Amino acid sequence: MLEVKGIQNGIVLDHIKAGNGLKIFNKLISREVNVPVVLVMNVESKILGKKDIIKIEDRFDINLNVLGLIDENVTVNIIVDGELKEKKKVTIPEKLKGYINCKNPRCISHFDNYVEPEFTLYDREKLEYVCSFCDEITKFE
Ligand SMILES: [Zn+2]
Repeated sequence: MLEVKGIQNGIVLDHIKAGNGLKIFNKLISREVNVPVVLVMNVESKILGKKDIIKIEDRFDINLNVLGLIDENVTVNIIVDGELKEKKKVTIPEKLKGYINCKNPRCISHFDNYVEPEFTLYDREKLEYVCSFCDEITKFE
């Protein structure tokens, strides 16, 4: 089995369904984080069969909301001084800022740089959100 060095301080995202690790990395990590990150894919898991793991060193301010959108089963482990300090589950957020763009091409959020797109959860199963500016429904993908 592949051994990966544990981290002293940072976040370990565990129980990511195999395949979602890369998605989380692309959507969230690569654009927000510039510290050492380890992505381990297809690790044997008793619960999931195969899983992915992401380790992020020296960062604690990861957007858990977006994690929930990609994979609701992720466990977030907060590591401080080499010890597990906290375990968190992620959820699908009721409100979303950024991360999706309104589907309506005439929506003000596309034209006004001072306006941050804001969305409210509309359909939990389909991951659909309502734009707070134009009421258009946009799906998270
Ligand atoms: Zn809109």
